[in-house]
Amino acid sequence: MVVKKRIAICGFNLESNRFAPSCNEADFKESMYFSGPDISKEARAEHPKIHLGVKGFYDAMDKQFGGEKGWEDEPILVIGSQPAGPVDEIFFNRFLHDLETRLKKMRDVDGVYICQHGAAVATHTHDPDGEMFKLVRRIVGPKVPIVATLDLHANISQQMVDETDLLIGYRTNPHVDLFERGQEAARCMLELFSGVELYKHWIKLPLVAPSVTLLTDDGHPYGDLIREGQGYIGHAIINVTILAGFAFSDTPKNGMSFLVYSRESSKNAETVANKLAQKAWSERERYKTNMISLSTATKLAKEVGDNPDPEPLLFADPADNPGGGGRGNTTFILKKFLEAGVKNCVFSVFFDIHAVETAFESGVGSKIKITLNHNEENQFSEALSIEATVLSLHSGIFKGHYGMVAGTTADTGRTAILDIEGIRLICISKRQQCRSSDFLSAFGIDPIDCRTIVVKSRGHFRAGFKHIFNPNQILEIDAPGLTSPNLSCFDWEYLPRPVYPLDRDTIWEINN
Ligand SMILES: [Zn+2]
Repeated sequence: MVVKKRIAICGFNLESNRFAPSCNEADFKESMYFSGPDISKEARAEHPKIHLGVKGFYDAMDKQFGGEKGWEDEPILVIGSQPAGPVDEIFFNRFLHDLETRLKKMRDVDGVYICQHGAAVATHTHDPDGEMFKLVRRIVGPKVPIVATLDLHANISQQMVDETDLLIGYRTNPHVDLFERGQEAARCMLELFSGVELYKHWIKLPLVAPSVTLLTDDGHPYGDLIREGQGYIGHAIINVTILAGFAFSDTPKNGMSFLVYSRESSKNAETVANKLAQKAWSERERYKTNMISLSTATKLAKEVGDNPDPEPLLFADPADNPGGGGRGNTTFILKKFLEAGVKNCVFSVFFDIHAVETAFESGVGSKIKITLNHNEENQFSEALSIEATVLSLHSGIFKGHYGMVAGTTADTGRTAILDIEGIRLICISKRQQCRSSDFLSAFGIDPIDCRTIVVKSRGHFRAGFKHIFNPNQILEIDAPGLTSPNLSCFDWEYLPRPVYPLDRDTIWEINN
């Protein structure tokens, strides 16, 4: 009789911005919190709310074993929050305790798949991801393969490398390969089941590039680097993972990581990692920002709104990116655009629960007077008093078609569309970044008809708007915020120094 493979599934997903308010259970419950059989159900759903990495893993395993009855999943806990500040110690420890209890209840497993982000910090530790990996290893023992997928913004620790057999990072930014990386994790786990031994090598560079410089399309340094890394995949090398990390986590773990796994030897993995790290270091000056000032953006928006001839423009506000822990509600750009009388412009999306509630109470067609950021305490979330007309009201749940939300169910919470003197503001009650044109069309706004659109996003929107806007129609505005690409604006406490580009004379040499 063939014994079915039994694989435990778990994951903790948080990208922590040290400068943002801390997060706790409520943030995870609002975003993604699945346990037990609900994980299997979501993973096999057509438009899942669970991380697509889990769906990819299940898909590959189901195909390998001829359907879901051909292998046994042990779904444990898969949770995730929108990017936020450090996770609260009490909640994180409770999560670990729950994970431990559930893992111990399982019968022996053959493998563990961990769907993890990898850039979490906690209020009490720099390395909650590593703590979790250590716990899983302690319970399943040294021989059971543990394979994890990571976001390419993960900050790597020795503990994360040591406690797992294989770490597989995304290779696209915007991240559109979560599903494929989940499938890859499954394929690699099957290889580990067959007895293949992997040798690993890890190098970390003192390079912490601003997030806006880390796109992976052709012509971008990070994309070129990742593609070069993939050129080594073959008979000997099973995986090359290059993780740029997430600057705003501000941990001793920060720095671009090169992880190479070889079926042949440690030396083989080391040689490839060295070559790639040297290439990245020699090209470090390519990681440059290219933003325009708020006054230039205002002038352009006014011109494009008033005249039908110029091409429509898509403005990004990378400094207030909820996808990096930003609050998604700063008013610097909105205020300037209103003062200048910009027309035919849509702000997608703006996080303000109070504005949404007021709009719902008043109803469609009503005029309301409100103060945006009524209850916000963050220094960048300045209050702004406005008079608006409520254009429409929505549940906020919709199916995604483009970019990172394609094939998923998105949920912005109750959502209100307000018109403020020719500017439409999409107010949402679940904080998140605008990841695609679905965030307009789901609420009855045709993105094709907009003269200008402003998104609070660092770069993930690009995959979800590329069917409408060419790269030359997309401009990044230099405004203040919790996720400003101007790294010198922050009071770094734990970042290893010197580090490039903050310390321009940083020296790095390979130590063989
Ligand atoms: Zn990321």
